[in-house]
Amino acid sequence: MDKESYEMAKLALKDFEPSIKPYRNNEEIDVHNHIPENGLDKQSIIKVLKNFNQLEEHRWKEGYVSGAVYNLDQEHIDFQNQAYSIHSQSNPLHFDVWPSTTKFEAEIVSMTANMMSAEKVEDEIVGVVSSGGTESILLAMKAYRDWAKETKGITEPEMICSDSAHVAFDKASHYFGIKMIRIPMADDFRMDVEAAKKAINKNTIVLVGSAPHFPHGIIDPIEELSEIAQKAGIGFHTDACLGGFLLPWAEKLGYDVPLFDFRLPGVTSMSVDTHKYGYAAKGTSVVLYRGVELRHYQYYVATNWPGGLYFSPTFAGSRSGALSVACWASMVSLGEDGYLKATKNILETAKFIKEEIAKIPELYVLGDPLFVVAFASDSLSIYSVQDFLSKRDWSLSGLHRPACVHISLTQRHTQPGLAQKLINDLKDAVQYAKDNPQEQGEMAPIYGLAGNVETRGMLDDVLKVLMDMIYMV
Ligand SMILES: *Cc1c(COP(=O)(O)O)cnc(C)c1O
Repeated sequence: MDKESYEMAKLALKDFEPSIKPYRNNEEIDVHNHIPENGLDKQSIIKVLKNFNQLEEHRWKEGYVSGAVYNLDQEHIDFQNQAYSIHSQSNPLHFDVWPSTTKFEAEIVSMTANMMSAEKVEDEIVGVVSSGGTESILLAMKAYRDWAKETKGITEPEMICSDSAHVAFDKASHYFGIKMIRIPMADDFRMDVEAAKKAINKNTIVLVGSAPHFPHGIIDPIEELSEIAQKAGIGFHTDACLGGFLLPWAEKLGYDVPLFDFRLPGVTSMSVDTHKYGYAAKGTSVVLYRGVELRHYQYYVATNWPGGLYFSPTFAGSRSGALSVACWASMVSLGEDGYLKATKNILETAKFIKEEIAKIPELYVLGDPLFVVAFASDSLSIYSVQDFLSKRDWSLSGLHRPACVHISLTQRHTQPGLAQKLINDLKDAVQYAKDNPQEQGEMAPIYGLAGNVETRGMLDDVLKVLMDMIYMV
């Protein structure tokens, strides 16, 4: 970014600073630019932390935020914190010092694999614990790149995703030099099978489907897509970051859930997030592979370093074993009955919200989702609706291409009366947007820039400067 663009981006963001960094330039709030000369009193530090928490907890605790915190019981959070604190010093890199951590991680992988039907298939399903959905996806894509290079001699690899697949796949493309082929969604927001088939060429290493995808919560036609991939001799990754810990239970409850896991022979890898509907604290996810060969392409080993023999399964070197312990504790304490109950409550809440939105004439739900509800309007600005909802404390996601707003429903939204409150606020928001057509919503001009190739570069710069701003003391 040249100097002029940098200055322009800074100027564009100036007005947003107070909302992005609300604690800056506030005389009542201490700032630490340097390590304090003398250590501070621990009780006063805890007080500071508690004060910030008190300022921030209302929205996520009471269920006003899309996604973000998926569990509901304070008791479940306290229990994980206890598990974390017992193992807070552990580091899986030192597997000899903390062999229990590796036992817990192996069990997380195994429990997740079996939830994804590992025991129902002949192939061995293996995996590792990563730091989150993005890392699981990056690891899998890196494994495919190295696999394709070694076994097929592919040096200009390509991956095929629907437009709706998570942006972490673009990140993988960017980091690992894999060409990204994005294909438009079909009218029902599922991946377009014919277009996917046509996009495959001799450089394709992997085809990706989501169960479901983030924007509209729609499950791609994984069965047909994975069959195409299998016939073409390429990898197929099911991104079940969002749905992995919910869809198996939905299926058990009798909901109509299409196959998306290892029961489909073409599915060669999956990403499944424990830190979403697994109800674990943030910082863990699982990546799974059909067979040990692919997992070997993910690993890193070094045998010629003066620091000694080195190997690490994921991108990190040292990492927290305690997060894995908390994740394991979350899974075994909830059990099947806990997951079934949570899933039932979420799906019933989602059904109510979908039905109520369908009754609002100005709005419609995109596609036929299970638990992520995206809604749009043909007659008014959906970003204006979103702004109005923000004023009532809701933090929903604004999306574009097409313009819509979504709510990813979690256990927090199953609290009594909350879904009805959302519908009431939504009705008021629609009325407001109708009465004030001149207000297009804060995000409208920004998505306007994003929608134009000539201004998109400018928006890239603005987002980089926004990140700079986040790191301002
Ligand atoms: C959340 C999500 C991811 C990435 O997850 P992070 O944990 O935020 O890195 C990937 N795919 C889908 C469908 C998701 O919903």
